[in-house]
This record gives sequence, C-alpha cells and structure tokens, in this order.
Amino acid sequence: MKPPVFKYCAARSVDEAVHVLTEHGDDVTILAGGQSLVPMLNMRMARPEVVLDINHVGEIAGVHANGRLSIGALTRQRVVEHSDVVAHHAPLLRDGVRHIGHPAIRARGTIGGSAAHADPASEIPAVLVALDASIILTGPNGDREVRAADFFVSVFTTAREPDEVLTRIDVPPASPTSRSAFLEVSRRHGDYALVGVGAQIDEDGDGRITSARIAITNVADVPFRARQAEDFLIGQQLGDPAVRLAAADAAAAALSPSGDQHASTEYRIDVSRTLVRRVLERIHGGAQ
Ligand SMILES: Cc1cc2nc3c(=O)[nH]c(=O)nc-3n(C[C@H](O)[C@H](O)[C@H](O)COP(=O)(O)OP(=O)(O)OC[C@H]3O[C@@H](n4cnc5c(N)ncnc54)[C@H](O)[C@@H]3O)c2cc1C
Repeated sequence: MKPPVFKYCAARSVDEAVHVLTEHGDDVTILAGGQSLVPMLNMRMARPEVVLDINHVGEIAGVHANGRLSIGALTRQRVVEHSDVVAHHAPLLRDGVRHIGHPAIRARGTIGGSAAHADPASEIPAVLVALDASIILTGPNGDREVRAADFFVSVFTTAREPDEVLTRIDVPPASPTSRSAFLEVSRRHGDYALVGVGAQIDEDGDGRITSARIAITNVADVPFRARQAEDFLIGQQLGDPAVRLAAADAAAAALSPSGDQHASTEYRIDVSRTLVRRVLERIHGGAQ
C-alpha cells in the first residue's frame, strides 16, 4: 500500500524540530527509524499532514556514560545492542534489545522511537520501566524529565506533548555485579513476543538478593513491573528452586492480561509464570 500525501520536513537540530512541532502541533508526526511509522503510514493508520524527519539531528544520537548512562533518542537499536558501555551499565537493556525483530529492523529502529511508540509488546519500554529510566523531552520551554513509569500512559500513548521531541533516555547504572536475562515467547523468530520477561538481580556477599527488577511485556496496556515478585525476592537466595517458583507465582498472581487472537488470558499468565521462573534460573546459572 502507499502512504497518504504528506508534507516532508527534515530538521537538522533539536531547535529546528521543536520549531516545526510548535508551528504544526497535532498535524505533524516525527520520523525516526520509520520501522513502526512507515508501516502505519502505508496502512493509513497514520495520516499526518507533515512528517518531520529527525534522522539528521546528530546531537541526539550516541551513548554516553557520566555517572549515569545517557542514550540519545536517535541511537539505533543495533548500536545499543553492541555498545560495551550499555552492556556494562545496563546489561538488561542490551538483553532486551537483542530480541527486537531482526537485525535489519534494529539497524534502522531507534531507542527513542521505540519508547515514543509505546507498544506494550515492545522490549525497550519494559526495560526502561524496570530500570527506573528517565525520558528527556525537549519542547519550546526547554527540557523536561519524566520517569519511565509515568511516561507510558496507555497503548501507543505517552506523556509526550505534541510540541516535544524525545531527545534522550537516562538510565541509572547497574552495579558491576548485577546479573540479568531477558526471555520471550513468540510465534516465529523475530515476531513481536506474545509475552516477554526481563529481570535484573543484585545479591550481597552471602548470595542474598538485595535488589530485584522484573518487567513483563504484553500483559497490560503499559509495561508491567512485577513488584510483588520483586518484593518477595528481597533477602532470598536465587539458588533455591522453591524461591524461583514462588517468585514466578507471585508475578503471575498479579496479572490480568486481555486475551486476543494471538493468546488467551490464561495462556499469557501461564507463559509469564514460566518465563519469570526461567529468567531467574538463567540468572542463577550465569548463562547469557
Ligand atoms: C517486521 C518488524 C518487526 C518488529 N519487531 C519488533 C519487536 O519484536 N519488538 C519491538 O519492540 N519492536 C519491533 N518492531 C518495531 C521497531 O522496534 C521500531 O523500531 C520501533 O517500534 C520504532 O522505532 P523507530 O525509530 O523505527 O520509530 P518510527 O517508526 O520512526 O516512529 C515510531 C513512533 O514514534 C514517534 N517518534 C519516533 N522518534 C521520536 C522522538 N525522538 N520523539 C518523539 N516521537 C518520536 C514517531 O512519530 C512515531 O509515532 C518491529 C518492526 C518491524 C517492521
């Protein structure tokens, strides 16, 4: 299918992008990697008057670590996946990004585009919520920081105002001893997952869990943080299979996902339980 007619603009700086957004308001849609927007245009699910291309705004691409990990919104998912800095400071983000589509999708798709698109089936939003990341939005009045948990409002809906560009994502650094894993179930390799689970665990010298972060995709309108399972795990030892099982049960008990043509409510809950248990097993076993 062909997209509807639209006016094309290319910004070369954040200021220029904000200027176009301020001028056109709701009638403009930002184009980053195009991996979600272009199919939506072609299927005429999006009909913007203006498409604002931000691919030449170099100032918002790249990975930096200075106390916290800062990732420019235009950083390609493939760069995030292969960045040593990301692997060191946010291994769970690297683990999640690896599961997105295929290499060609990740070569174009951006971290900011995935966050702004806010698909609850996506890996990046879930990881950002689990890691308490901050989303930086730049508008006519400057920068504003929104916690990931507040940024994702509903399916395909975020706290971004129409005159704001998502410019950066800041992630608090993981401790050097953190261990993480991300697993998912999809119908075919590269498909969006029916359910995905990511977790990051810290332990003290005696092997007792001091911090647990668990996020589940595609079981609610926004990425789901399995707080009950996290709370249960504090002070426990991951080496105990009964602990892993009880954490998985606690995560599953908190879920009430909708069923659809791809998976029933019961199936999504069952798969979530199994994936939480397997993710914890994998972290305990040290496999990546
Ligand atoms: C075959 C296929 C398989 C895929 N599989 C997966 C998968 O398994 N998991 C997954 O998570 N994703 C998957 N994707 C989607 C992919 O991850 C996209 O890259 C991502 O959803 C959007 O990123 P993008 O940079 O391409 O954004 P675009 O498609 O350019 O934009 C998406 C939306 O975000 C807005 N936007 C983009 N950047 C900004 C910004 N900086 N500020 C404000 N708004 C912005 C756009 O206006 C648009 O509304 C798949 C895509 C395809 C085509």
